Amino acid sequence: MSKGTVFNIEEFAVHDGPGIRKLVFFKGCPLRCSWCHNPEGLSFCKELMISHAACIKCNRCKEICTNEVCIACGKCVEVCPLRLRKIAGREYEAQELAEILLKGKEVLTDSGGGITISGGEPLSQPEFLFNLIDFIKPVNIAIETSGYAEPEIFQKMVSVTDLVMMDIKHTDNLIHKQFTGVSNELILANLGFLCQSDTPFIIRIPLIPGVNDTITNIEQTAVLIKDAGKLEGVELLTYHKTAPAKYQMLGKEFKPGFDTEKKVNIWSAVFDKHNIKVSLL
Ligand code: SF4
Ligand code: SF4
Repeated sequence: MSKGTVFNIEEFAVHDGPGIRKLVFFKGCPLRCSWCHNPEGLSFCKELMISHAACIKCNRCKEICTNEVCIACGKCVEVCPLRLRKIAGREYEAQELAEILLKGKEVLTDSGGGITISGGEPLSQPEFLFNLIDFIKPVNIAIETSGYAEPEIFQKMVSVTDLVMMDIKHTDNLIHKQFTGVSNELILANLGFLCQSDTPFIIRIPLIPGVNDTITNIEQTAVLIKDAGKLEGVELLTYHKTAPAKYQMLGKEFKPGFDTEKKVNIWSAVFDKHNIKVSLL
C-alpha cells in the first residue's frame, strides 16, 4: 500500500472536468511557475501557514514550540485561539484517501461527474496516484497535469484516465525555462503522445501578461493540437491576483518576474480559426 501527501480536498467543484466533482490536490511540483497561485502545492513536505494580519500576539504559539526550525508538527496550530495557523499537507494511504473521495459518490456520478486529481503535480507521486486510481475506479477520473513527467508514467496515466487536463505554458523553450524553471521538451513530447491517444483531453493555458499571451505563442500552441482526434477544447485561464497573500502565509516572497498589472491579450480567434472549441475561465 503506498502513501502520498495531499494539501487540499475540495467538494462540489464544477470547473475541473464534467459534472460535479471532488477535487484532490497532491502536494509537490517539479515546476516553479513564477505566477503559481498555489504555493502550498510546491514543496513535497508538510508546511506551516500563518495568517499574520489578525494575530493578537498572545505568544501561545511561541510558548509551546520547542523547535528552532519549524518541523510542521502542528502543536502551535492547536493552541492558537484565533485559528490563524494551519498545516498544509497531510499524508494518506491510497485506500484511506479513496474512501474519503468516494463518500457520497452518487452525487458525483448522478451529475455525470467524478473525481479530479490535481496538484502540485500528481504525476510526481506516481505509485500513490496509480494505487489511488485502482481504488477509485470505475468512478470517472480526470487528471490535471503540467505534463512534466517521465514518458512511461505519463503514458500509463493516459491509459487509466477518463479525461486529461494538461497545461501548455509556452512553446518557446528558453521562455519556458525562464518562467517555470524547467525545459518544455518533455512536456511537448508527452503532448505529442496525448494527441495520438484515444483518451479525451483538454488543453489549459494560464494566460500570463507579457509572458505567453503573444499571438505567436498562441498560434504555435494551436498548431500543436489542432489535428488531435480526442481534443475536447482549450481553456484559457486568466491570471489570479490572490497569490501574494498565500506566499506571505508560508513565509515566502512572491516574485512574479512579470507585470501583474498589465492587461492580458486573449487570442481566442486563433483557436476558432482551427475549429478548436475555446473557453475563458
Ligand atoms: S508547527 Fe508550530 S510548534 Fe511545530 S515546529 Fe512549527 S512553529 Fe513549532
Ligand atoms: S497563538 Fe495565534 S494569535 Fe497567538 S501569537 Fe500565535 S499566531 Fe498570534
